[in-house]
Amino acid sequence: MDLKERLLAEIENRKEDLVQLTRDLVAMPTLNPPGSNYLEICEFIKARLQRAGFETELLRAEGVLGDSDKYPRWNLIGRIDGNHPGDCIHFNSHTDVVHVGENWTKDPFGGEIEDGKIYGRGTCDMKGGMATSIVAAECFLAICPEFSGAIEISGTADEESGGYSGVAWLAEQGRFSPSRVQHAIIPEPLNKNRICLGHRGVWWAEIETKGRIAHGSMPFLGDCAIRHMGAVIQEMEDYLYPLIATKTTSYPIVPEGARQSSMNLNSIHGGEKEQDNLYAGYSAPCVPDRCRIRIDRRFLPEEPIETVKAEISNMLERLKDKRPDFEYTITEMFSVPSVITERDAPIVKSVHKSIKEVLGESPDYVISPGTYDQKHIDRIGKMKNCIAYGPGILDMAHQPDEWVRIQDMVDSAKVMAITILDLLCKEKN
Ligand SMILES: [Zn+2]
Repeated sequence: MDLKERLLAEIENRKEDLVQLTRDLVAMPTLNPPGSNYLEICEFIKARLQRAGFETELLRAEGVLGDSDKYPRWNLIGRIDGNHPGDCIHFNSHTDVVHVGENWTKDPFGGEIEDGKIYGRGTCDMKGGMATSIVAAECFLAICPEFSGAIEISGTADEESGGYSGVAWLAEQGRFSPSRVQHAIIPEPLNKNRICLGHRGVWWAEIETKGRIAHGSMPFLGDCAIRHMGAVIQEMEDYLYPLIATKTTSYPIVPEGARQSSMNLNSIHGGEKEQDNLYAGYSAPCVPDRCRIRIDRRFLPEEPIETVKAEISNMLERLKDKRPDFEYTITEMFSVPSVITERDAPIVKSVHKSIKEVLGESPDYVISPGTYDQKHIDRIGKMKNCIAYGPGILDMAHQPDEWVRIQDMVDSAKVMAITILDLLCKEKN
């Protein structure tokens, strides 16, 4: 058997181990928010990688957004260097999962296996992917102990809430600089036959309308901020949403519904604050003096962020011209431009070749509707040779009864291992 055949056979042999590793990771409820059990999961990955010969660093993003003594933001990086100089390939997975939610029929942390699938919160997004990359690297090391370059594996915090104390912070420390890492794969659940090149852009902002408080029985003595906000939303319905719907892309964004620009209204708050369940009374009659909405605008690679912002501010200014006493403020929360890796980038070509070898078909190139940690590797780390590739069906992410198919993990592990072989093993041919 040549090296490649031995590598594929090794992965088949370790299928049970891959399943168990996924179940062990899922059993740790690393819920974010608030960000629980990060140290526990990092210690677990650390011990696992050390057994495989990795040097590890446990790093806390102290004082960074999200970090506190109660919920410290721990990150783990493992690195193993070969005997010869060469490129470093980095596999980055986030350790956090979103809250469980309703309508589960399985134990969210039980890792139950049924019909070839492992069930649980984070199986798909993305502890299955993390386990896959770890087993792929371990199998490669067993088959090709003499290699060039280095392999890094990281488990990082807070991707689900922006990744500021995870990949963003590590990138600020130079952990993803092109001098240190030359290839990066993020095993997010994009499916075993797809290469995700990047994502759409996002802009979050808060719009507040102003009013004047008065007694609810004499609203003419006040000015209702909620009615002003109603006018804003009406303007969005009449003008902005139809405009956004005309913007389409030539990029392969999935699902197809995301091939046009989109905007969600994340929240609306106006008037008296809602009381908690312990309060049994009515509310007081007041004209609300302010109302706020938070908008989540997702834009296409073809759309400049300046245009996206101008559409909103022009709309608000127009309303100010035609609506008496209309006053507003708009506050930007954050923005991330669209990030897309070139199709002829080395990691794209290598994974493309590996998918063809393992699955016997050419991969689809896709772009994600939402952002993930590639944004930080690209923008802060300045490392452009990065993709998302991993097992799992994207639609299952964050759902009740989330699952990952075991065969998909095995196939993806083969793709990852052959990619490592391609990039780091000189004697592969
Ligand atoms: Zn994810």
